[in-house]
Amino acid sequence: MLLKDRTEPLELLILRSLYIRGSLTEKEKYRYLSLEKGFEGEKKFDMLADDFIKEERYIINDLLLEVNNSFFQIDKLIVSQGAIHLIDVKNFEGDYYMDADRLFSATTKREYKNPVIQLKRSETLFRQLLQNLKQSFPVEPYIIFINPEFTLYQAPMDQSLIFPTQVNRFLVDLNNTPSKLNDNHKKLAHKLVSLHRALNPYTILPIYTYEDLQKGIWCRICQSFMVSIKKIKNSYLICAGCGGREKLEQAILRNIEEFKLLFPDKNITTRNIYNWCLVELHTKTICRILKNHYTAYGKTKETYYQ
Ligand SMILES: [Zn+2]
Repeated sequence: MLLKDRTEPLELLILRSLYIRGSLTEKEKYRYLSLEKGFEGEKKFDMLADDFIKEERYIINDLLLEVNNSFFQIDKLIVSQGAIHLIDVKNFEGDYYMDADRLFSATTKREYKNPVIQLKRSETLFRQLLQNLKQSFPVEPYIIFINPEFTLYQAPMDQSLIFPTQVNRFLVDLNNTPSKLNDNHKKLAHKLVSLHRALNPYTILPIYTYEDLQKGIWCRICQSFMVSIKKIKNSYLICAGCGGREKLEQAILRNIEEFKLLFPDKNITTRNIYNWCLVELHTKTICRILKNHYTAYGKTKETYYQ
């Protein structure tokens, strides 16, 4: 039973927007692309797990928890009758090797955070959390390497590491363990969901200003700004890059939400949104869309929406 679905994390949404609007340093771009790849891997594992796991279990996706001022992330938590599985999904692609406790890319020699150490930390913190909640359940942590193009040389013989060729078997075995849930499981699972935090306060977001960013509406398929408006029946936004189309109203609403995400302190006014969208439209159209989807405050030129 799915108790919490996976949504795109705030940090990913913000970085994606800044990436497309051209305001990231090389280091930030790297961070963005690895978040995007990580999210893609997690979704892929969700789909596989959905196919395999049929027995009675609670599934909680993407949990950010805090215990004694330390934050930790669990990509997927599964509550079964006999144990709680903490699952970390890695979408590494290419050849890597372990040297002592360190992980490197075999091609670029770049060092990566050792996921085993990260997992141990999460496990320890999760056990502390259970203790604080006066609960005792066996905890089984795993790292799933989801990408079929991933190879790890000098891999440790660690039962908690699940390599691409083992993922299906892992899920079959998990599903074959009988599980019946009781009230205790239910209480704990709901408690964990209620403890989820939306944003890690230690996340460092890039510094950006309105002036730094490219204005306009980007194509949701190919992320190009080469969009134009086609007025057939309902107006559409047509992308010159990929030919993709989106209902104009939908595209403007998407752009408004992006504005809100990037500039929570700026007012949503017709003028601000008009400048932000930068499309050949009358301000009246923007005004109508705002009126239809948001609540207006204030009168005349000072009107803003929430
Ligand atoms: Zn496009």
